[in-house]
Amino acid sequence: LSFGPHHDAKEQVRQAIDLVEVVSRYLDLRPQGRDFVGHCPWHDDARPSLRVNRERQSWKCWVCNIGGDAFSFVMRKEGVGFREALEMLAERAGIELSVRGVAIVRGSSNDKRTLYQAVAWAEEQFHRCLLSAPEAEPARRYLQQRGLNADSLQRHRVGFSPAGWQWLLDRARSTPYSPEVLETVGLVGRSERSGNLYDFFRGRIVFPIRDPQKRPIAFGGRVLPDDPEARGGKYINSRETRLFSKSEQFYGLDVVGDNVRRTRHATIMEGYTDVIMAIQQGLTDAIAVLGTALNQRHLHVLRRYTDAVTLVLDGDTAGQRRTNELLELFVSQQMDVRILTLPEGQDPCDFLQSRGATEFQRLAADAPDALEHKLRLVTQGLDAAKDTHRANQALEEMLRIIALAPAGEARSATRLREQQLLPRLSREFFVAEQDLRLRLDELRRSRRATTASAPSAATGPAAAPPSLRQLAARDVELLEILILEPALIGQLAELHEPVRLPPGVAQEILEIFQRVWREAGSADFPQIMAQVEDADVKSLLVELDEQAREKAERAEQSPLGRLAAWIDSCRRQATDQQRRRQMSSLNETLDAGQELNLLQEIQELARQTRGE
Ligand SMILES: [Zn+2]
Repeated sequence: LSFGPHHDAKEQVRQAIDLVEVVSRYLDLRPQGRDFVGHCPWHDDARPSLRVNRERQSWKCWVCNIGGDAFSFVMRKEGVGFREALEMLAERAGIELSVRGVAIVRGSSNDKRTLYQAVAWAEEQFHRCLLSAPEAEPARRYLQQRGLNADSLQRHRVGFSPAGWQWLLDRARSTPYSPEVLETVGLVGRSERSGNLYDFFRGRIVFPIRDPQKRPIAFGGRVLPDDPEARGGKYINSRETRLFSKSEQFYGLDVVGDNVRRTRHATIMEGYTDVIMAIQQGLTDAIAVLGTALNQRHLHVLRRYTDAVTLVLDGDTAGQRRTNELLELFVSQQMDVRILTLPEGQDPCDFLQSRGATEFQRLAADAPDALEHKLRLVTQGLDAAKDTHRANQALEEMLRIIALAPAGEARSATRLREQQLLPRLSREFFVAEQDLRLRLDELRRSRRATTASAPSAATGPAAAPPSLRQLAARDVELLEILILEPALIGQLAELHEPVRLPPGVAQEILEIFQRVWREAGSADFPQIMAQVEDADVKSLLVELDEQAREKAERAEQSPLGRLAAWIDSCRRQATDQQRRRQMSSLNETLDAGQELNLLQEIQELARQTRGE
């Protein structure tokens, strides 16, 4: 195989793994005929609905109507992206992935495995120090005062980094972790003036931040109250590193992720201690963002777990503008959000400790959703009958936010709320419901017009996953033929005119066929699957594959015959178009020689079909 550098990792890993073995790590599979079946992890599965096809290296659940290969099974099961799934499968298969062709020296700062190990080692040092070192006594006392018990400290591996500049660096001397490695993962900083390295978290309680695979990747550090030497903020986080991206991580998701996925709900708080206390009190869906504002990338990560959240906000009104932005973010992402403001400006940690999780959940259940919350804000102290100018502004602001949720999709409760809210807005603002709907349509149309042309449209609400029904029959026909008989891609490549489909997912798949064929000299289904990074497109491909093989069983024509017919119909369509153009322009543009060539190719293909 002669894959280019960035394809070859996928292909290498694909060859090294077996789907049956990968799936078996997550669920019990038993053989059934030539396939294997198991209980689908994504729906409440009474009978085994998940089917694994060893020969095609594909899986499918008929109830959920999703399918894929080993990569997308891991992506969906672990809630990770393609790259992460690739790395996990590579690691289990004992394959070292190189980064863009750079050779990896084991133990160096570009060896990701060493980086993970270094952070895990540091976590252990900090944690043991907190539990037993004499210099950690003030830290232990502080955590006890805050009410965090030993189980919690253990569960979240809370630690302490002693004051002094070299505590961690000194300890690392007898380990494989060089100062460069510690610097790469953000555990040590470098003085700008002297160039000397120093412990980054010195004198702070440290909260390990773990990825969804429960690996520590970074830390948050909190100063002790009345620490005379404390410098910098009350809280600091590791800077962004190769392992840690602030906008994609939630604190606590490693602990409560399974539960969030099961209950389809998360409670988002502001601090580490809030989350730890919440879980200690039995609120087992609490998470927090890390030293950054909640943003769109967070929601993309969260969507793999749930699309309903309760957002716990501090009581201060300074955050109100920010709250506005958050509301818009959730509505536009079609996530259901309730806004919970705790009474008397209490923080979640204090509240949970004094009143307990049940009381917290009772408040959360009564908390207003995004639109209700917004309505309360804009109508505060407003008399719509008297102050018409302000009332108009408030109404327009409400409609603008409602319009952020795309029309026509009843995917979230926000859309249902819209149906309930319009009659109410009509009553409160003395405007006919009919007029409200017209204005809403108008706002949606202008919004679509602007987002469609703006380059930022790609970061807008996630598009619906591609479905087989949306593809043109002609495109489906070609892809089915290639799936059944990949070698025909070679025939296509030799045609006079390169075959192109209209832009879209079918053309993307065709390009993958062409590239894999060029680079590997074969294009079998599992090879094609491995090159596709989008889990939804993988699912589409499995559907195509099933349909193709089903049709092939009852088809009268061979794949080659079907291809000849396909090319023939394309040719007819092309000449029709050309004839139309000629008639309108009176310009002789048809190259008779070109057409003859294509005709000969078709006849040749047809001859091969008949086995001549
Ligand atoms: Zn299922």
